Amino acid sequence: MAKNLQAVRGMHDILPDRTPLWQLLEQRVRDVLGRYGYREIRMPLVEQTELFKRSIGEVTDIVEKEMYTFEDRNGDSLTLRPEGTAGCVRAGIEHGLLYNQVQRLWYQGPMFRHERPQKGRYRQFQQIGVETFGMPGPDIDLELIFITRRIWRALGLEEGLELQINSLGTAGERAAYRQRLVDYLKARYDRLDEDSRRRLETNPLRILDSKNPDMRELIDAAPALMDHLGPESRAHFEAICAGLDEAGLAYVVNPRLVRGLDYYARTVFEWITRRLGAQGTVCAGGRFDGLVEQLGGRATAAAGFAMGVERLVALLEEAGLEPGSQVDAYLVLVGDEPQRRGLLLAEQLRDRAPDLRLLAHCGGGGFKSQFKKADRSGARYALILGEDELARGVIGIKPLREEKAQQEIALDRLADFFEQEENRI
Ligand code: ATP
Ligand code: MG
Repeated sequence: MAKNLQAVRGMHDILPDRTPLWQLLEQRVRDVLGRYGYREIRMPLVEQTELFKRSIGEVTDIVEKEMYTFEDRNGDSLTLRPEGTAGCVRAGIEHGLLYNQVQRLWYQGPMFRHERPQKGRYRQFQQIGVETFGMPGPDIDLELIFITRRIWRALGLEEGLELQINSLGTAGERAAYRQRLVDYLKARYDRLDEDSRRRLETNPLRILDSKNPDMRELIDAAPALMDHLGPESRAHFEAICAGLDEAGLAYVVNPRLVRGLDYYARTVFEWITRRLGAQGTVCAGGRFDGLVEQLGGRATAAAGFAMGVERLVALLEEAGLEPGSQVDAYLVLVGDEPQRRGLLLAEQLRDRAPDLRLLAHCGGGGFKSQFKKADRSGARYALILGEDELARGVIGIKPLREEKAQQEIALDRLADFFEQEENRI
């Protein structure tokens, strides 16, 4: 027998039992973003490889070893997007959305990275991202953080998440700091792991982001970029801290927070949970003022963040969130005439009660087996239509989730009945 094909390692099906939780999360995030006036943008899943090399940076984990890159039939090098910012900036430049304008955008969709699959780390994963353009001040950084807090509130996750912030300064400030860091690390060369030795030449700041616990002590004692900021970057950072204080939003300044992508400048932040083990960052973002110019546009201030949806869904599951049932009622059809006309009758019921989510029984079978299916469907009610009900213009309603007797109502009262039910719950 042929071997069954399976999903690609690190890429997962989200089965219908779990999609309600995803939909609930997506809906609540969308609602919050709408309340702040952000507009959705949809980009292709595939871009030219060059775009990611030029934006994320040649010597980053993503570009060095995580991208799904292939040649298409024309011989062009294409890549499945590993993140959304690059494509969003590319689209903004291409369609003239950025120059001399203010934009508040969001997107949602799958990202692809060839990482080692583990809990909270997949090869196809979902992000909801937000990008803003044309606002250079600390006010928009603050707005972004306020949005994230409101999202956690809307999801009931505010308690378990910690905000960490840092400033990476400007490109010039980073270059000066880079030399100090390299001097410090070179003097301790024998204590560096292999990855860090390599990065010493190519991208020493990323050493600060090392996940190797043996490197922790060395990194903690390294000079901090925070102490080498110019007056403007300092003021920008202090304005954010003051705004967070004023809003009563607790945060931790983490001078080792550098982020895995090259394009960040000044503000960076992460929201972290301790409930998911090693993969604890559920949201990460910051300023990327240089990126638009780097990709060929005119210099444009920019800031944004991206949330990892799988990790947030895991938090919701852990919190025991149970989205309600997906269907309100299951239509049970008894007797020849109702069975024959079943789907048509269901259409009439849907005409009468537009908000009712109704599963119509298909495939015949007796009363008992239909009731079993009604129960298994998760519906709260069985609607029962037999010859007798049909003749009298009524329908039977039997609650499936509570011990209550079956009742009968006139067909034209069906919408009212479920409206009242809705209010009762
Ligand atoms: P990490 O340090 O965990 O590798 P990152 O810095 O590579 O994260 P970003 O590129 O900033 O992550 O992506 C933003 C968010 O997307 C992360 O905070 C995380 O929640 C989520 N994320 C990133 N990579 C993955 C992945 N492979 N699987 C699942 N979620 C991911
Ligand atoms: Mg990563």
